[in-house]
Amino acid sequence: MGVLEEKLNFFAENAGMNLNEDMLRSFRAYYELLEERNKVMNLTAISGEADVAVLHFADSLALLGIADLRGKSVIDIGSGAGFPGIPLKIACPDMDLTLLDAQRKRVDFMTEAAKAVGAEVEAIHGRAEEYGADPGYRERYDFAVSRAVAGLNILAELCLPFVKVGGAMLAMKSTDSDEEIAEARNAIKKHGCTVEKIDDYPLFGTEITRRCVIIRKESPTPKAYPRRFAKIQKEPL
Ligand code: SAM
Repeated sequence: MGVLEEKLNFFAENAGMNLNEDMLRSFRAYYELLEERNKVMNLTAISGEADVAVLHFADSLALLGIADLRGKSVIDIGSGAGFPGIPLKIACPDMDLTLLDAQRKRVDFMTEAAKAVGAEVEAIHGRAEEYGADPGYRERYDFAVSRAVAGLNILAELCLPFVKVGGAMLAMKSTDSDEEIAEARNAIKKHGCTVEKIDDYPLFGTEITRRCVIIRKESPTPKAYPRRFAKIQKEPL
């Protein structure tokens, strides 16, 4: 067993999760591919078994302690090299996962990574604010998840149109995001949503405390949102 598996097992035991042999093999395959492709394209600044295991894989998996994603439809907005979506799919295989990113090369990588771990996912190339207005994607998902994509006032408009009424957005943030959350309240309300919970939790294996902002959709998002990106950025709600 390598450092990657040790770190993942340590995290899983502390988080009360079970990662079986198949899952550990999938994480190993994902790690090897990530390291290899990262040499020739800009996927992530994090490398090495210990850091990837904790800061990418375990950090992504922590969402399973926040929400039960089994049998649920989930879209990961701005997934990049596949975080948090692909680790969630490895550990929760019966989740229905869509990965979305604006960069073609990253979408190609995610497609390759999903194949390498034997996961069936839909990986789409495009901008969240365009797909969020598309009737084939709008209000279709139980959960929208996102990490390290934008400030919450902008992220709300990128993610919330995808969430069905009764569903939720899980925004992965750091614990110094109080002001960011306060500034996003208006955008969240305008999308028919409310902040249900701000959940702070330890990232086992580190000294880091992470945060997930759970935003529940209570009524449909008005057709006016999402706006064009220039507008979202220039005039956040
Ligand atoms: N979520 C990944 C993670 O935590 O490692 C990637 C984070 S990376 C810093 C941000 C990603 O969001 C980039 O891959 C970028 O292409 C994507 N992105 C930013 N704005 C987007 C938008 N409006 N629609 C789709 N993808 C977007």
